[in-house]
Amino acid sequence: MNIVLLGAPGAGKGTQAKLLVEAYKIPHISTGDIFRAALSEGTPLGLEAKKYMDAGELVPDQLVIDLMDERLSQEDTAPGFILDGFPRTAAQAVALDEALHASGRVIDVALSIDVDPEVIVKRLSSRRTCADCGRITNVDEGEVCVVCGGKLEQRADDNEATIRNRLSVYAQQTEPLISYYQAKDILVAIDGDRPVETVWADVKAACER
Ligand code: AMP
Repeated sequence: MNIVLLGAPGAGKGTQAKLLVEAYKIPHISTGDIFRAALSEGTPLGLEAKKYMDAGELVPDQLVIDLMDERLSQEDTAPGFILDGFPRTAAQAVALDEALHASGRVIDVALSIDVDPEVIVKRLSSRRTCADCGRITNVDEGEVCVVCGGKLEQRADDNEATIRNRLSVYAQQTEPLISYYQAKDILVAIDGDRPVETVWADVKAACER
């Protein structure tokens, strides 16, 4: 099962991706996570990506496309994969199709998780991530992860000005991909402004249809 998750930043793609990993035992590939890991290791890729991430802008297409060509050529993606945060532009979507075609694969389903932008601003401003276990929670939990005791941190790009820019970049550059996948008859739109389990029921049904 080859899955693309569309949806604005903060729509809940990462949360649903984790549930998909458990259900299908296929890798979760998040370009944002790859860039953040590269940045914390101080690699040239991470330092280059940081320039764009801090402003809420997109990293240049060719850099992302090359990175993903390499990632999708790895053996663990053969049984399937969940793409979270990629593709984000028409050029990336076309490059993805070409790379998959070359290895006899296609995207089976594109899920668009839809949430009102003002709800997203509130969600992201209060989002916190555990520095140790990676669990995503919110500011109400305090400063320490209730599961592992790690420190809860706020992402550098989860401040209101950057959030609003990320949402406008999403509307301009990524939302058009909804029609791209609709034209291929593989798009399923899901209301993401509901409890995680309710959204998950729809996500699972869409993957099993
Ligand atoms: P995310 O964690 O998906 O919200 O991504 C965080 C940031 O990483 C984005 O705001 C972009 O700067 C960068 N990024 C992640 N994925 C992509 C992509 N597919 N194309 C361009 N930039 C990306």
